[in-house]
Amino acid sequence: MSRVFNFSAGPAALPEEVLEQARDEMLDWHGAGMSVMEMSHRGKEFISIAEAAEADLRELLGVTDNYKVLFLQGGATSQFSMVPQNLLADKQSADYVYTGQWSKKAIAEAKKFCRVNIAASSEDRNFTYIPRFGTWRRDPASAYVHITSNETIGGVEYHWVPDVGDVPLVADMSSHLLSRPVDVSRYGLIYAGAQKNIGPAGLTIVIIKEDLIGTAAAEIATMADYKTHAESGSMYNTPPTYAIYVAGLVLQWLKRLGGLAAMEKTNIAKSQLLYEYLDSTQFYDCPVSPEDRSRMNVPFRIKEDSLDAQFLAEAKNHGLVQLKGHRSVGGMRASIYNAMPIEGVRTLVEFMREFERNHG
Ligand SMILES: *Cc1c(COP(=O)(O)O)cnc(C)c1O
Repeated sequence: MSRVFNFSAGPAALPEEVLEQARDEMLDWHGAGMSVMEMSHRGKEFISIAEAAEADLRELLGVTDNYKVLFLQGGATSQFSMVPQNLLADKQSADYVYTGQWSKKAIAEAKKFCRVNIAASSEDRNFTYIPRFGTWRRDPASAYVHITSNETIGGVEYHWVPDVGDVPLVADMSSHLLSRPVDVSRYGLIYAGAQKNIGPAGLTIVIIKEDLIGTAAAEIATMADYKTHAESGSMYNTPPTYAIYVAGLVLQWLKRLGGLAAMEKTNIAKSQLLYEYLDSTQFYDCPVSPEDRSRMNVPFRIKEDSLDAQFLAEAKNHGLVQLKGHRSVGGMRASIYNAMPIEGVRTLVEFMREFERNHG
């Protein structure tokens, strides 16, 4: 068996220890005589798995009792419509910050439910930065402010939290939740699809302040109402049991590593290694403003873009895969989530140096 360094943006690499544990527990979970996949979601074994996952997530992120943690399905994409359906209450508008492809999708969906005020946009420089807070133009009548705190495609990340006062701040953290400590109390609602940095596809995590639950219009679909899931402990219908189990193993792995502060240190070291090299050479470049660069998703280009296909082919021969940039931006992108070891980034940088020597 040989494993590659997988730089996929998602579904993405998982910690090897977690995969090994899932393998070891596959046929017989803790003496249950069956796989977690085969268990009733209402049985005591699975309930204990789900409760431990929630407790570990709360511990890692410091989530207080006035927030609910929901384990949902439908991906972050379903949250694009659930957020306005639930949070508008009696208001007719919401503020969105437009920083790239994912906020674009969130905005398009919200427009089906309300008036969207684009409070700030980085479209003028092709989404290569986060608009400074002082330039935001908010609508005082907005029900909430929505940000995409890490744009997975463009590789821009908020390294600060906007202070929006009493208006709920909603953040799509799909591609960096658990990569660093978060002050959850600054947010009304945080959501994330698990398949980037948390676990397998199929699980969507929502962390929501309790006073934002139960404000949806009466005609909302049952499954779209946060209240349904909050009141049933995310067990209104069958939850994504195996994905919750594997995410739970990832949470235990994070705790063994020392939690999110320790994880953040490693993520800073990993991303610096790559950005410092990109900034030191004329052969490649990274289009993102240095202060807004993502620690998770690093887009870069070879200045001579006719070399892209050869770069990707040679990288693959070195066991470095999934480096092709998103089809909308081209070039390359290295996603270096929690599960990417620093050796993977070192190997990538060494390969990039060698490629530069051969083709520069
Ligand atoms: C991947 C991603 C999404 C979409 O997630 P799905 O789970 O596929 O719906 C939304 N927002 C961000 C920031 C993402 O990275």
